[in-house]
Amino acid sequence: MENVTKAILVCILGIATMLFTRDRGRVPPLSTRNLNLSYDYIIVGGGTAGSVLANRLTEDPEVTVLLLEAGDEETNKPMYDIPWNAPRSQMTEADWIYRTVPQKTSCLAMKDRTMIWPRGKGLGGSTLVNGLVYIRGSRYDFEEWFANGCDGWNYEDVLPYFIKLEDYRIFDKHVDPGDDV
Ligand SMILES: Cc1cc2nc3c(=O)[nH]c(=O)nc-3n(C[C@H](O)[C@H](O)[C@H](O)COP(=O)(O)OP(=O)(O)OC[C@H]3O[C@@H](n4cnc5c(N)ncnc54)[C@H](O)[C@@H]3O)c2cc1C
Repeated sequence: MENVTKAILVCILGIATMLFTRDRGRVPPLSTRNLNLSYDYIIVGGGTAGSVLANRLTEDPEVTVLLLEAGDEETNKPMYDIPWNAPRSQMTEADWIYRTVPQKTSCLAMKDRTMIWPRGKGLGGSTLVNGLVYIRGSRYDFEEWFANGCDGWNYEDVLPYFIKLEDYRIFDKHVDPGDDV
C-alpha cells in the first residue's frame, strides 16, 4: 500500500512538473511582452515587406505600429544569416511546409509529381529560407515602367532607396551584450 501511495505521489509530481515547465515554455518572446490597447497601424506578417513597412512607419516616433507574425523569432539562430545555408531551414519550423499540387507537365521525376514550395514563417519571412542574394533591379525595367505611366518609379527615383538599403547597419546584440542599442 505504501508503494502505491509513493507511485501516485511520483505521478502527481511528474504531471505537475510537466505542466509547470510547459507553461514556462509559453512565456511570450520579448517583442510581445508589452502590448498597447490600440495601434495606429497593424501589419499582418513580419516578413520582408511587413518588416520594412513597420520600420518606415516607426521612423515617426508619434506613430504606433503592431507587427503580427505567425512564426517564431529568428534572433538566436545564426543559420538563417549564412548565405546559401538558409535553404537548410526549408521544411523546418521556419517554413510553412507547403507542397504543390501534382503537376501535369513538370516535376516528372518527383514523387507524386509534387514539389516543396518554401515560404518563410517567422520574423524575416521568406528571407529565413531564401538564398540571401541581393542585386539592384535593372535600370531598364524601371525606365520602361516609368515610360508606361508609373510616376515615381523612374530609376533615378528609386536609386536613393537602393542606396539606403545597401547602407543598412545591424547592431548585433550578440557581438556586444553590453551595448544598449
Ligand atoms: C526558396 C526561396 C529563395 C529565394 N531567394 C532569394 C534571394 O536569394 N534573393 C532575393 O532577393 N529573393 C529571394 N527570394 C524571394 C524573397 O525571399 C521573397 O520575394 C520575399 O521574402 C517576399 O517578401 P514578402 O514580404 O512578400 O513575404 P514573406 O517574406 O514571405 O513574408 C510573409 C510573412 O507573413 C507571415 N504570415 C503569413 N500569414 C500570416 C498570418 N495569417 N498571420 C501572421 N503572419 C502571417 C509569414 O509567416 C511571413 O513571415 C527567395 C524566395 C524563396 C521562397
